[in-house]
Amino acid sequence: MNSNNTQSSILIIGAGLCGSLLALRMAQRGYQVQLIEKRPDLREVHQDAGRSINLAFSDRGMKGIKRVGLEEEVKKLCIPMHGRMIHNLGAEPFMSNYSGRDNEYINSISRTDLNAMLLDACDKMDNIEIKYNLACKNVSLEEAKATFEDYTTKEQTTFSADVILGADGAGSSVRKSMFLNKNFLFSFSQDYLTHGYKELSIPPAENNGYRTFKNALHIWPRGEDMLIALPNLDGSFTVTLFLPYSDSDYCYDTLTTPEMVTEYFEKEFPDVLELIPNLAEEFFENPTGPLGTIKCSPWHCYGKNLILGDAAHAIVPFYGQGMNASFEDVAVFDDILDAHEGESWEAIFKAYEAARKPDTDAIANLAVDNFHEMKEHTASDLFQQKRKLEMAFEAEFPEDYHSKYSLVTFKEDIGYKEAKMRGRAQDKAILNLLDDGKLPDTLPLKEKLNIVNKETQDILHDD
Ligand code: FAD
Repeated sequence: MNSNNTQSSILIIGAGLCGSLLALRMAQRGYQVQLIEKRPDLREVHQDAGRSINLAFSDRGMKGIKRVGLEEEVKKLCIPMHGRMIHNLGAEPFMSNYSGRDNEYINSISRTDLNAMLLDACDKMDNIEIKYNLACKNVSLEEAKATFEDYTTKEQTTFSADVILGADGAGSSVRKSMFLNKNFLFSFSQDYLTHGYKELSIPPAENNGYRTFKNALHIWPRGEDMLIALPNLDGSFTVTLFLPYSDSDYCYDTLTTPEMVTEYFEKEFPDVLELIPNLAEEFFENPTGPLGTIKCSPWHCYGKNLILGDAAHAIVPFYGQGMNASFEDVAVFDDILDAHEGESWEAIFKAYEAARKPDTDAIANLAVDNFHEMKEHTASDLFQQKRKLEMAFEAEFPEDYHSKYSLVTFKEDIGYKEAKMRGRAQDKAILNLLDDGKLPDTLPLKEKLNIVNKETQDILHDD
């Protein structure tokens, strides 16, 4: 089947963030789309207490959203976060901006509101049919047929299509069927961190006010552990604790009573304790989630099946890029459909994976790096000196300098792979130069930038 035949039927499995955006874009291109979701319609049934209620949304995510013309709708759901508010133990919190350019910031957005808005837009398309409560059990890949089980009746149904797009998240059933298929070589890796996450909440103040500064991503870095908080539109904050499962004085294995949880917070996060009135209840009621990276290849088979979003590349959340990358997938796929118009689906899928995988591998690695940066280095003096210098470069020479964070988060015209290479080289250059005293305060800023750029080029050349 040729990809420019808009009579092609497309079955999208998973109506989460990636699947609903993908369905919308494919329908806008004229395809007949069936979108099938395991859970109930999230606009009708409240779900998922304790599972990343809000997310950091940034430019690469917006790139995907722009493709479907929902930019203005999404902006209404966003709370700008201009930087990290860092809460060191026993010290006054301070703000470390994400960029020296005023127009570069990230946003806090509700997962449910964003997903609901995308589903509302899907509902308006005549060529999208959405079904809920149907969990994909397996996919007959050669025939592009998927079998689903009804959530309530347990009845099984099979749907077929010309093409199946798996957007069913980190535990993807489509990927599992590819893994189990013996007719082609499928590489797969899953790496867990030793830490798990647990969500807690800071309730709104009176009249939906905020109990702490609204427009920041709050971080309490404590070396091994870390707490973060993102604002919600109703005045509350969603707080996430990142803590080891075991082998530490305070870890999920040892925090087994309300007294121990309170003792831990009194010691490590005393300023947060008064902000979370239901700490112990939430700690024990909310699940502890694992944090893992999934890489696999190929992402497609038989010219009939392709996986996207977390199904193809789940990453740890420390760069705030999982959803953003999944939305960017849709934009990249859309570009590939344009560039390869009239070619077979197999050719399209191959071109898409070749264009995209180096970038999703790069963000997977950067996200693990950022875990260590956030919990350990944000508090260090050298790191703060580096950030201060980078902010000054970005403010004075906005066209000439982008920090690693800016390259990854805001510079959506380059891929994650390039952002990683340039960003890491710059980091190494600045840290070495600062450590060696080669960027004294007396030096004009332009000269410092020239030295950093030269050192960065040397590092890139040596690598
Ligand atoms: P999902 O959102 O998981 O959606 C998959 C959908 O498929 C779901 O609706 C699911 O019900 C459905 N499904 C699953 N199995 C089946 C099946 N068998 N049959 C039918 N349907 C099925 N990303 C960011 O960009 N910024 C952040 O700040 C951020 N913070 C995060 C914090 C945490 C703690 C975590 C865990 C993740 C975070 N992420 C963040 C990552 C982000 O949540 C994911 O990258 C994003 O949700 C991926 O979208 P997706 O649609 O591919 O997968």
